Amino acid sequence: MADLPPGVQRGFPLARLTTIRTGGPAELFARPGSLGELERLLAWAASEAIEVGVVGSGSNLLVADAGVRGLTVKLDDDLTKIEVDGTRILCGGGARLPAVASRAAQAGLAGIEFGVNIPGTVGGAVRMNANAYGGELARVLEWVDVVGAAGTERRSPRELGFGYRRSSLGAGEVVARGSFALSEASSESVKRTLGEMRARRRAAQPSGIKTFGSTFKNPDDPRAQGRTAGQLLEQAGCRGLRVGGASFSAKHANFIENHGDATTADVVSLMIEGSRRVQERFGIALEPEVQVLGPVELPRDWRRSA
Ligand SMILES: Cc1cc2nc3c(=O)[nH]c(=O)nc-3n(C[C@H](O)[C@H](O)[C@H](O)COP(=O)(O)OP(=O)(O)OC[C@H]3O[C@@H](n4cnc5c(N)ncnc54)[C@H](O)[C@@H]3O)c2cc1C
Repeated sequence: MADLPPGVQRGFPLARLTTIRTGGPAELFARPGSLGELERLLAWAASEAIEVGVVGSGSNLLVADAGVRGLTVKLDDDLTKIEVDGTRILCGGGARLPAVASRAAQAGLAGIEFGVNIPGTVGGAVRMNANAYGGELARVLEWVDVVGAAGTERRSPRELGFGYRRSSLGAGEVVARGSFALSEASSESVKRTLGEMRARRRAAQPSGIKTFGSTFKNPDDPRAQGRTAGQLLEQAGCRGLRVGGASFSAKHANFIENHGDATTADVVSLMIEGSRRVQERFGIALEPEVQVLGPVELPRDWRRSA
C-alpha cells in the first residue's frame, strides 16, 4: 500500500463529516468526483484487499473513536449533481435530499417532498430506506447505479431489498447515481408543501444541535402499544439523561445530542443505558437505527441490526 492512487489521503479526520461530530480518522480517504474515478478506486481497494466504507452527509453515522481501517469515500463533483430531465430528476449518490426536494419544487415536480426534512444524501437515503411523513422512497425511485469491486450495476427498487430503515446493499457497495420519476404539479403548491413540512419538523424536533436524528427504530412489538421509541425512552426517564458529553435531547428523547466534547463511546454508553431502561420498564428490546463505521463496541444483539 506504499503507492496510493491519486487523491487518496491518509489519516483523514471523519468527525467533521458527521452531524454528531464524534469519532476518529479514516486510515485512507478519497473524494471520487466521477463514476470512472469511483470504479477505479473500488477496483484498486479490492485488488489490495482493502475494506471500503462510505460517508454521505454523516447524518445517521457513528464513527469509531479509534478510527476506521481501510478506505472511506465521500462522493464529490459529478456524483453530487442534480439534473432535471422532463419529469425525472437524475442525481449523484452524494446529492443532498433537501436540495433534490427544492430542485423538484422549482421544476414543478411532485413526489420527493418528504426529502426536505431528511438531511442525508441520495446514497445514504437508499442504504437506509429513509422516510418521513409517509413519503416513500421506493415509490419515486426509478433506479440506482451501484458501484462495487466488479464495476457498476443498475438496480431497481425491487432489487434493493427495502425494509424498515434498511436495504440489501452490500458492505462496500456505493450508490453512485439515482433517478427519481416524479409527476407534474404546480411549483407553487409543491413549494407550499415543503414549507409546511419544514414548519411541522421545526415544531417537533430540536434544531441546531449535533445529532444523528433518531437513535433507535420504532419497535414492532405489541407491548409498545403504538408508542414510538422516543415515547418509550421518555416514559423510561431518558429525556435529558447524560453520559459524558452526550445526552438524550430535552426536546425529543430519541435524539442524542453532542454538547461539544462527546465521544462515540459516550454516545454508545448512553444508548445502552436508554435501551436498558426501556427493556426494564416495558420488556421491549430497542434496535439502533444509527449506522456505525469502524470498530464501535455495540452489544452483540445489536450488531445484526446496525
Ligand atoms: C436532524 C435529523 C433528522 C433526520 N430525520 C430523518 C427522517 O425524517 N427520516 C429518516 O429516514 N432519516 C432521518 N434522519 C437520518 C438520516 O438523515 C438518514 O438516515 C439519511 O438517509 C442518511 O443519509 P446520509 O447521507 O447522511 O448517510 P450517512 O449517515 O453518511 O450514512 C448512513 C449509512 O449509509 C451509508 N451510505 C452513505 N452514503 C452512501 C452511498 N452513496 N452508497 C451506499 N451507502 C451509503 C453509510 O455507509 C452508512 O451505512 C435524520 C437525521 C438527522 C440528523
